[in-house]
Amino acid sequence: MPSRYDPASVEPRWAETWVERGYFHAQVPEDPSDAYCIVIPPPNVTGRLHVGHAIGRTLEDVLIRRARMQRREALWLPGMDHAGIATQVVVERELRKEGVERRELGREAFVDRVWEWKERYGGEIVGQIKRMGASLDWERERFTMDEGLVRAVRVAFVRWYEQGLIYRGERLVNWCPTDQTGLSDSEVEHEEVDGELLTFRYPLSDGTGHVDVVTTRVETMLGDTGIAVHPDDPRYRELIGKTVRHPFDGRDLPIVADEAVDPAFGTGAVKVTPAHDLTDFEIAQRTGLPSMNILDAEARINEHAAEEFYGLGRYDARQAVREALEKLGLFVGVEHPYRHSVGHCYRCHSEIEPWMSGLQWFVAVEDLKRPAIEAARDGRITFWPERWRKAYVSWMEGLRDWNISRQLWWGHRIPAWYCPDGHVTVALEDPDACTTCGSGELEQDPDVLDTWFSSQLWPFSTLGWPDETPELRAFYPNAALVTGYEILYLWVARMIMSGMSLAGDIPFRDVVIHGLVRDGHGRKMSKSLGNVIDPNEMIDLHGADAVRFSLARLATGGQQDIPLSVDSIQGGRSFANKIWNAARLVLQEFPGGEPQLPPEDRLTAPQRWLLARHQRCVAEVNGALDRFEFAPAAQAIYRFFWSEFCDWGLEMEKDRLRSDDETVRADTANVLAWILERTLRLLHPVMPFVTEEIWQRFGIGETIMRSPWPEADASAGHEALGVEAEAVWPFVEELVTAVRRFRSEHQVPSKTRIEIRLVRGDNEDSRFAGFEQEILRLAGASSIELVSSADAPGSARLVVQGETVLLPVGDVIDLAAERARLAKRLAEAESERERAEKKLANPGFRDQAPEDVVLAERQKVERAEREAAALQEQLAELG
Ligand SMILES: [Zn+2]
Ligand SMILES: [Zn+2]
Repeated sequence: MPSRYDPASVEPRWAETWVERGYFHAQVPEDPSDAYCIVIPPPNVTGRLHVGHAIGRTLEDVLIRRARMQRREALWLPGMDHAGIATQVVVERELRKEGVERRELGREAFVDRVWEWKERYGGEIVGQIKRMGASLDWERERFTMDEGLVRAVRVAFVRWYEQGLIYRGERLVNWCPTDQTGLSDSEVEHEEVDGELLTFRYPLSDGTGHVDVVTTRVETMLGDTGIAVHPDDPRYRELIGKTVRHPFDGRDLPIVADEAVDPAFGTGAVKVTPAHDLTDFEIAQRTGLPSMNILDAEARINEHAAEEFYGLGRYDARQAVREALEKLGLFVGVEHPYRHSVGHCYRCHSEIEPWMSGLQWFVAVEDLKRPAIEAARDGRITFWPERWRKAYVSWMEGLRDWNISRQLWWGHRIPAWYCPDGHVTVALEDPDACTTCGSGELEQDPDVLDTWFSSQLWPFSTLGWPDETPELRAFYPNAALVTGYEILYLWVARMIMSGMSLAGDIPFRDVVIHGLVRDGHGRKMSKSLGNVIDPNEMIDLHGADAVRFSLARLATGGQQDIPLSVDSIQGGRSFANKIWNAARLVLQEFPGGEPQLPPEDRLTAPQRWLLARHQRCVAEVNGALDRFEFAPAAQAIYRFFWSEFCDWGLEMEKDRLRSDDETVRADTANVLAWILERTLRLLHPVMPFVTEEIWQRFGIGETIMRSPWPEADASAGHEALGVEAEAVWPFVEELVTAVRRFRSEHQVPSKTRIEIRLVRGDNEDSRFAGFEQEILRLAGASSIELVSSADAPGSARLVVQGETVLLPVGDVIDLAAERARLAKRLAEAESERERAEKKLANPGFRDQAPEDVVLAERQKVERAEREAAALQEQLAELG
């Protein structure tokens, strides 16, 4: 084995070999209970691997590789999303560089260009996911606009349309004036902003008075069509049925009564702008007020509004309307700042405008959401961590109809056609004639479907739905769905609704929610902060194993964010090196083949201890992974491998590993190799590369990927075997550590052997039974014995697990000189502390010195205090 582990040369080789040999390919199992399937959230075809993908793929791969080793037929299904807006924008930008606008090119030519772009540049991310070692079944890779999925989308649309679950209607949509498209509610990000709440006044048409109203968007008053008050509000009861006069265009606006008006808010009277506010839209539906759309698609005031404002952008209009009201004496007052929630576009962050954009298609969610809520409530779908179930249920309960029309060219075209008489034909195959009047003059709806409409079908459309394929039968429902919480609603909730409605069952049994990856200080990664960690770069530098390990180790469940730093990735790399070095040591003595544990009576106490610890680690990892707790699982392996196996186990076994006695040597090599080989398998799902590279050297199989997963209950009672050894271990560990510390603190030369005396009332001690030789060697001691008296001049005195340990070092170090040396250092530490304290007590310094200088002085005090305490302890040890 090479002395240095080089991930850059090992990893790409295995990534390729695994795919070539078809190890990632899943068959359809004969017994459906053997099937285990996870789909990836299809990344955008425009995407590049970022840390959010990296964590998701890592955790999924851990589950999939483990399931595969557990002899399940594990299918991990890859694919990409056509990503409507995102992709269209990329190609539009390219065209613009050539001086071509999308509309000049025309729809068909433009869509051809997008396909061309997709074939040439799209999917860079696939190579990056492969480089991570993700064991996806690439033979089954899908695209949300491939032939099969186009058909699935059509079938879903037509079926829901026929069931009355899809309808066409004119309703307010969330309009992004920048992207020029409607958005679903989940694509709108609500943010608290400081705006202003303005009060202005409408004069009554009959000149008998006025009504005051409040608003945060005063420009919308240009489209007001009425005033609403609560029917029981005594202040306004007399006014219901009267009208107010619009100050800019002279329209008379009726005053209506509606229960939805909150008398306690503002003045208790509200302006009603049905075309630009959802609540107002609903009031208008109930009270019969008309709608008046005063904005164009770019959110400029249109020709329906009073002439003086025509053509103004919405923010200019806000200012202009306010000034005009002031001039007319209708401006009453303004509250500023006024904190309120404003919807923004999830893509471009423009303020969303509720807007009537003409007829659009909607999914009626009322009947779809009931079973989807039920499945979470009755436990058919389990959320990990559990608290997400509640969040999901309450979100679902508030869900409103889903606008699925997008005014784009790139995407699944809506399968609806209109004849000149306005009849609608919805069909699976492009129709030749109107189904109502037979007219051959048909025009297809120009809009495409929301990207999430196709990705909601992903868990079953990728398995062949709507056909009853063997894949669908075996792998649906999927086992688990792993995702960050940011797309729980956007995606997960919709998969559950459509899966239950269209594929007849829940889409997956477990929903595993992980936190968002942030920087090491918990801040969101962003270009402007310059704290973005690029996983591709990290993989090149430190290896995919290092990135995967550090992500898994940080992946606590739920909303807890994942603080990723370059340091933690380097930590992953050091771990790979540690494993490599340990393996080299073991494999120098172990000749290869299947390691065989020696008979029990030949196992030493340290070996029993190590076997027991290993067994506990296996149990811990399995328990954690069964609960989808990745961080404790990774941490358990790390702790066992690094501390117990390498730092203690190998140290204790080193001598036996090189013993002249061939049986001892072979036994030791077998024990270590046995544990190493199993630990490699346990670690394989998290760090696939280094484990495969080492495991190959055992020569016991084609690939570790297909070797059996270590189960906790197997392997004949190592825990029982190790009970005694584990019971004495804490004392042994602490004793060795204490003596080593003593030696280094008091500068005992490393070659000098010292004696250890444990003070005991009786002679029946087993506090270190079986570990005598190990203690001697690791502590650099010549003997360890029990003594009855603690009265021992010339000895240093340590306390280990409540026991007194004497080190007769009077001959080795000059105790008096050592005491003097320590006392001198103690005095220095104390005067250092006093000096700093005095400085800090001086108000002139404290208030005038720069902050970091003051801080440095404070740290000096703390450091000196710590040092003094340690020195006092050391002095006490010397008696
Ligand atoms: Zn936008
Ligand atoms: Zn017709």
